[in-house]
Amino acid sequence: MNKIQMVDLKGQYEGIKNRVDRSIQEVIDSSAFINGAQVKEFQKNLENYLGVKHVIPCANGTDALQIAMMGLGLKPGDEVITADFTFAATVEVIALLNLTPVLVDVDSETFNIDIEAVKQAITPKTKAIIPVHLFGQCANMEVIMEIAEAHNLYVIEDNAQGIGAEYTYSNGKKQKSGTIGHVASTSFFPSKNLGCYGDGGAVFTNNDDLAHTIRGIVNHGMYKRYHHDVVGVNSRLDSIQAAVLDAKLPHLDAYNKARRNAARKYNKAFINHDKIETPKMANGCNNICDHCDCHVFHQYTLKVKGVDRDALVKYLNSKDIPCGVYYPIPLHKQKAYANSKYNDANFKVTNQLIKEVISLPMHTELDDEQIEYITNNFLEFINE
Ligand SMILES: *Cc1c(COP(=O)(O)O)cnc(C)c1O
Repeated sequence: MNKIQMVDLKGQYEGIKNRVDRSIQEVIDSSAFINGAQVKEFQKNLENYLGVKHVIPCANGTDALQIAMMGLGLKPGDEVITADFTFAATVEVIALLNLTPVLVDVDSETFNIDIEAVKQAITPKTKAIIPVHLFGQCANMEVIMEIAEAHNLYVIEDNAQGIGAEYTYSNGKKQKSGTIGHVASTSFFPSKNLGCYGDGGAVFTNNDDLAHTIRGIVNHGMYKRYHHDVVGVNSRLDSIQAAVLDAKLPHLDAYNKARRNAARKYNKAFINHDKIETPKMANGCNNICDHCDCHVFHQYTLKVKGVDRDALVKYLNSKDIPCGVYYPIPLHKQKAYANSKYNDANFKVTNQLIKEVISLPMHTELDDEQIEYITNNFLEFINE
């Protein structure tokens, strides 16, 4: 059996080596390392794939979020509501821009931002909501957009973990994640579902004016060479990363399908176990179906009940099975973001999740033998 990895980027590379190597060589031959033809080409192909009017590439997913908020013209003191249970980048950029982060609890089944908590957090100062499509499944976008419309708020989708996922509306209509809110951000960090070989990110929007504003912001606030109309940043996707992404984009659906296949096998091994709660699908999908992209499993995260989770992690590691705890500390308890305005009692779900969640190896190259080894060892510990 091949050594099990949390993410197998080398194995994935082997399958696309010729195309990737050729694309990188083309960038080197052209010497257009910044703003080369590959960046435009990838941008266009991603716009087509997503069905969104504008993709604005940038340096990473954290920048993408910051730039999206700058583009919307959010001002110091504006309140931005986001989930307590996510990677810190989301709240970090809110704070960096001197906006006021308002963290709220998440749903215990989908791990995504809790709708009732969002409603309760809205004040006259609220300007935006950032739902995070955590672990690869869309937040409840239909309701979030309704709330936003009723209160005149912007919705910024943090789609770093959800690229390729489809959201299903209550009427059955489907739409790609990151194309539903007013603006969205994504990350091409190597381990993300569409990852490059370094850092990368992008902003998506269907709004022409916002896209124009953002294209200037990523380039030092320039709309005309050496005319700086607004305060901008320097945030670029370089040509080599764009070349890698453009080589991988045609495989994204197959990659996500491979992830779903692995998730389905995990689910099957853990079915009806009273100490294991496998990932719950929203969108009326009661299992991981073959024909829809409702969940792209950036992580396969389950909950264990009445189990010493940390001992389980140690046990798996001792069997050479890597695993992760995403996330071990809720944001409202992080030193940088703790605030006396938060009442710990309002974070019942995140406070519970941090004790129960565990993420198993998830990538495009997992084989049956590895999955069986992982699930057998997992069950052996749980059943002992
Ligand atoms: C990875 C990630 C980011 C940040 O992306 P980087 O490219 O690493 O800056 C932001 N939000 C979420 C939810 C992420 O998972």
